[in-house]
Amino acid sequence: MAAVCPECDNPILIDDEDVEEGETVQCDECGADLEIVAVDPIELVAVDEPAYDEEDDLTLDDEDEE
Ligand SMILES: [Zn+2]
Repeated sequence: MAAVCPECDNPILIDDEDVEEGETVQCDECGADLEIVAVDPIELVAVDEPAYDEEDDLTLDDEDEE
């Protein structure tokens, strides 16, 4: 069965006999990690990775200039 990458619309072939909800697959085209949230039909969502642009919480640089 083919699903479509929500990030880049690339069709991704998934063997629906061999996957379960909650598994993740990776898009060959854009490299996004996609979680299988439903299998009938297959539905994919991009997994949020707090990797690079969510670093505000870690920032100690809290200088307000007034
Ligand atoms: Zn993709």
